[in-house]
Amino acid sequence: MIPYGRQSISEEDIEAVVAVLKSDFLTQGPMVPRFEQAVAGMVGAQHGVAVNSATSALHIACLALGVGPGDLVWTTPNTFVASANCARYCGASVDFVDIDAHSWNMSIPALQAKLVQAEAKGNLPKVLIPVHFSGQPCDMAAIGALARQYGFKVIEDASHAIGATYRDTKIGDCRHSDVVVFSFHPVKIITTGEGGMAMTNDGELAWRMAALRSHGITREPSRLQAENPAPWYYEQQMLGYNYRMIDIEAALGLSQLERLDAFVARRNDLAQRYDRLLANFALILPTVDQECRSSFHLYVVRLPRCDPARHRQVFEALRAGGIGVNLHYMPVHLQPDFRPLGFAPGMFSEAEAYGESAITLPLYPAMTEDDQDRVVDALDHALRL
Ligand SMILES: *Cc1c(COP(=O)(O)O)cnc(C)c1O
Repeated sequence: MIPYGRQSISEEDIEAVVAVLKSDFLTQGPMVPRFEQAVAGMVGAQHGVAVNSATSALHIACLALGVGPGDLVWTTPNTFVASANCARYCGASVDFVDIDAHSWNMSIPALQAKLVQAEAKGNLPKVLIPVHFSGQPCDMAAIGALARQYGFKVIEDASHAIGATYRDTKIGDCRHSDVVVFSFHPVKIITTGEGGMAMTNDGELAWRMAALRSHGITREPSRLQAENPAPWYYEQQMLGYNYRMIDIEAALGLSQLERLDAFVARRNDLAQRYDRLLANFALILPTVDQECRSSFHLYVVRLPRCDPARHRQVFEALRAGGIGVNLHYMPVHLQPDFRPLGFAPGMFSEAEAYGESAITLPLYPAMTEDDQDRVVDALDHALRL
């Protein structure tokens, strides 16, 4: 089976991990801060807070921005459930903004229209979580302008998008947002096994997120309430979690980061090759905004018409042919655990149509042109059924 995604682990990666195993610290040693500084430097952010997953990063970003019961958080239905669950962990309500028919990212006109309505009803969101779907950046200048106009905060879920650029800036620099979150799960662009990071240019937010990832505890003398603290002293100043990244993971991440550009370049080359090979197929191919560079976490094609039975038939034929296709994503609002919150079919029709026609084709740096030719042949065969 050719998988839809997979990690690339080099001998240098293995040596970096082994070196930590032989060192004094498996966790809370020098590697985590080194990895944080390296990622922050690479993407142009002031601070990085490394955690054990992007899901944890989204949770502590919401908490640090003050999300709680009675608040509203909006995201896109075309995402992994974690982009919405982070609001629910905080006791807030979640709602969705439908996607654009071409970029498959959150639609800016739909966002504008929903904001106008929400302002009239007095239920504006506290936080918006746009997702750079497949590695293609959302229109962050437009989102940043709306955030200023309507007074909401922005967390970019960039789980797919480390290494992507929006206009002249790198995804992660927080130019148009408060926090940017990356995932280092093995199918993503670079990996730490499990892991994530929250980037921000706001020192106070960075401090709160760093405390929240470790039980809400601080030892920083300037932050302590006690005068003249004893050497063993620390304070829990808020209710936090154990969301820490460990040094073994950070060492792998640091080593992987050196190949970030090569990974993204290879993904773009393979995506362009798919574009050429599939140009005459009866498929809708992904579009890339000319102002952006996608990191191409995913290469998604769509069947030209929404026909659930046909979608499933093509999908099953590809899987039977050894092609590990996937669906990114079933719309989040249709998940059984979201229905009781007031969501139903028909509410976000572009995302629903997308979910009935999209197929994620295999794409990862170690994929060979022979692998890719096999995918294209299998797709040709499946579309003729
Ligand atoms: C993978 C992913 C996450 C969750 O990442 P983890 O590191 O697995 O917690 C969140 N949002 C999106 C869009 C993702 O693709």
